[in-house]
Amino acid sequence: DRLPLRRALVSVYDKTGLTELASALVGAGVEILSTGSTAATIAAAGLPVTAVEEVTDFPECLEGRVKTLHPAIHAGILADRRKPEHLAQLDSLGLAPIDLVVVNLYPFTATVASGAPFDACVEQIDIGGPAMLRAAAKNHPGVAVVTDPAAYGEVATALEQGGFTLDERRSLAAAAYAHTAAYDAAVATWMARQVEADRVDLAASDPGESAGPEAPPAYVGAGYQRLAALRYGENPHQGAAVYTAPGTIGGVASARQLSGKAMSYNNYTDTDAALRAAHDHGEQACVAIIKHANPCGVAVSASGDVAEAHRKAHACDPVSAFGGVIATNVTVTAAMARQIAPIFTEVVAAPAFEEEAVEILRAKKNLRLLVVEAPARQGWEIKPISGGAVVQERDTYQAGDDDPTTWTLAAGPAADEATLADLAFAWRAVRAVKSNAILLARDGATVGVGMGQVNRVDSCRLAVERANTLGARATGDAAASASEPASGAVGGADAAEILQEAPPQRAAGAVAASDAFFPFADGLQVLIDAGVRAVVQPGGSIRDEEVIAAAQAAGVTMYLTGARHFSH
Ligand code: 5GP
Repeated sequence: DRLPLRRALVSVYDKTGLTELASALVGAGVEILSTGSTAATIAAAGLPVTAVEEVTDFPECLEGRVKTLHPAIHAGILADRRKPEHLAQLDSLGLAPIDLVVVNLYPFTATVASGAPFDACVEQIDIGGPAMLRAAAKNHPGVAVVTDPAAYGEVATALEQGGFTLDERRSLAAAAYAHTAAYDAAVATWMARQVEADRVDLAASDPGESAGPEAPPAYVGAGYQRLAALRYGENPHQGAAVYTAPGTIGGVASARQLSGKAMSYNNYTDTDAALRAAHDHGEQACVAIIKHANPCGVAVSASGDVAEAHRKAHACDPVSAFGGVIATNVTVTAAMARQIAPIFTEVVAAPAFEEEAVEILRAKKNLRLLVVEAPARQGWEIKPISGGAVVQERDTYQAGDDDPTTWTLAAGPAADEATLADLAFAWRAVRAVKSNAILLARDGATVGVGMGQVNRVDSCRLAVERANTLGARATGDAAASASEPASGAVGGADAAEILQEAPPQRAAGAVAASDAFFPFADGLQVLIDAGVRAVVQPGGSIRDEEVIAAAQAAGVTMYLTGARHFSH
């Protein structure tokens, strides 16, 4: 089922490998039809080429907007070889079939990324190219279509073997459609964003009534492009790959890896959770350590010392931090790198690394170092369900409800400045925890996290228990925890330390945040009994009164934020 190649249409923006391809075609006796600068490149290599105008008898016009959009070209591509009447019609029109289409498109995404103005971006929307790719792909029973210069080698091989097989033409067609789909999705995403931006401008000048969140537009989810295959998925028997969303900048999918083994599926998802947690504390230097998508520690440093933030985050739960993923929103310093080195860690992700930090961490062959721009604050989250997907707006980072001046004091004395800062920290940190989430904090660090329980009482119990059994001293000499761990020790020197020392009782005197309201007073009572002195929660339960009364009776401060942050 190989079909010989006699006539090829070559029209490429990216000229990579073009002369090699043309010379292989010419060598195999294939006639090349080509457009403007593609034809010029082929001719300059001393190879014969027919200009498209000679076939169409019509000039390229409108600054290149119309080049190949002509029946002489499209009939040549679309004639069904299996139908004698199609071929007879071509003949009577004085046209010949085209057996191979090699086209790659105007660089729309790159133009947008370069910050070009609107009209310049519009000009880079390729029209004739996608038309030819789609036509050739539709007619794959008789035509081969190639869009990726990396596939030119396959053309050369096919020429030696007498053409492409039907199976090969089918997979080339599928690749061509994936390419045009991604291309159009990038255009649609970009254009919708321009419209959105205009609307936001209008709304800002005319503060009307807010109509609630908008549903995602229809293009969302289209055009994800495969970046790389992964060794396997969540488990070794699951195939997996990583994809980039059209037109996005920042986030783990576009990370630059400095060293370490290839990223795994779980590395990607945990790093994503870690970035989300680390980039949610405004301008403060923050470190988040994640295991299985949940934090085993999040901390900020008031002085901007990232090593201090890391010590505090690690001290929350040194046992779980073993094999974790660490992310920060600031540069990783050599001091922080020295602290990480003795702790078995899967990934460290940051916007930048000090040179010395890279040297220290590079020595760990299994540790992946990633340079990652902050993930986009806005965007859509797609979650598969059987038979489809649900899509939602990403939960806001740096949300309006983060500002304690917008909170309502519902019980107990108003918090002093330091307590309020801890409550604000806890409130931001709790949305990095899978629901139901209860988070205990003190001094800008988590000290007990209760995650993923199916009722809020259990999350409260878990947070308290973990606060009182897992901790290590957060302060003290960084170098003391930087010595190599004894073989078999979990989590480095800190873990060894907590095995010997009674863990600090950290629930008493801590503050707490709850990602959603307390449906009954029972969960809150667990926190009160453990000595928690201030709580922040959304409020809004039909039993708020009961819950507030329990706080009031215990003299515990309670703030209501009015917003909920479930995360599943
Ligand atoms: P060249 O560099 O050969 O002058 O142009 C090659 C580019 O033009 C390719 O990226 C191809 O997709 C695009 N192209 C081919 N025909 C047409 C057409 O009729 N209209 C537009 N807008 N682009 C075309």
